[in-house]
Amino acid sequence: MSDTTLLIHSGSAAPDAPVTRVGGLPLAPAGTQWPTCTACSGPLQFIAHMVLDGGRGVLAVFMCANDPGSCEEWSATSGGNRAYLFPPTGLVPVPLPALPTAEDADEDEHEHEHDEYEDEDEDEDVRQLGAVRTVERVTVAEPEYRTACKAWSGQSGRPTRHVLGQLGGAPDWLQNDETPDCTDCGRPMEFVARLEEGPDPLTAPNFGSGSAYAHACEPCGRAAFLWQC
Ligand SMILES: [Zn+2]
Ligand SMILES: [Zn+2]
Repeated sequence: MSDTTLLIHSGSAAPDAPVTRVGGLPLAPAGTQWPTCTACSGPLQFIAHMVLDGGRGVLAVFMCANDPGSCEEWSATSGGNRAYLFPPTGLVPVPLPALPTAEDADEDEHEHEHDEYEDEDEDEDVRQLGAVRTVERVTVAEPEYRTACKAWSGQSGRPTRHVLGQLGGAPDWLQNDETPDCTDCGRPMEFVARLEEGPDPLTAPNFGSGSAYAHACEPCGRAAFLWQC
């Protein structure tokens, strides 16, 4: 019987902490531009920074939050999300891009300082999640994800919504198997992690109340992201 490695919500960290986390700032090779949505051209929202074992690199996930539902942000290929496989070292925080809102047209009517304060106070920033969540890995002696979640919850006395996902193993698809093919070599990508929305809807990534799946092709340095609900 195989084990399942769960990612358990374990607190917070600095936005640029070089640890596996949901939320905060992306770390990327110097000079990397903040990615934009190919559907709406707005900045993507940074979702997660995942440090892979054995110095295999860092998987960074972005998704469009500019107009939920209209950019097919659940799809691995629509351009409404982006996943990168970065090298394990030499990564720096990517500067936040400007907010591309209708307020731009009204900018003359506002003090710039006031705009900045507004940005920080907003519950929903299309560029960043409202919280930084670090994870603790817990290995559960259950081969199935959902069974493992229930077992962990029973043992720990904590709610299953504190499970932020799964690391490695086999993906437990909510819908059909949608394993993406590598855009370079054409082979099926390797499952890296599952991500859940987490304990707080106000600061959660929007996976349509479903679950997200990150894959990578390490030889090609490619990654892909999608969600199902
Ligand atoms: Zn978009
Ligand atoms: Zn490949």
